[in-house]
Amino acid sequence: MSMDTEYFHRRLTDELATIAETVAQARETSGIVELDQSSIGRVSRIDALQQQAMAQSMLERLQTRQRQIEAALDRIADDRFGLCCACEAELEPERLKADPATVCCMACAEARATR
Ligand SMILES: [Zn+2]
Repeated sequence: MSMDTEYFHRRLTDELATIAETVAQARETSGIVELDQSSIGRVSRIDALQQQAMAQSMLERLQTRQRQIEAALDRIADDRFGLCCACEAELEPERLKADPATVCCMACAEARATR
């Protein structure tokens, strides 16, 4: 494992740990409504439902991100990290720095976006 890969590996595992914590918190929030159904008033129940919906969409985003990070960690394990998933060119270092879970190079990302 090169120095760079080690650095990205650490960033990815750190982010994964943060996500795991946030997921645990969001799960708690999305469980509030069931718990308090009989003890809270109508208005605060609507609040709770809104919070629950927000927590659920946040959970979905976090889980998508979690899968991206896990895929990036798989690429590190398979020694394919830092290569574009489409054209297999080396990814731009600044793209990897911005997001270590980046899967394709600038050219392929743009081709995808305009397709
Ligand atoms: Zn590419």
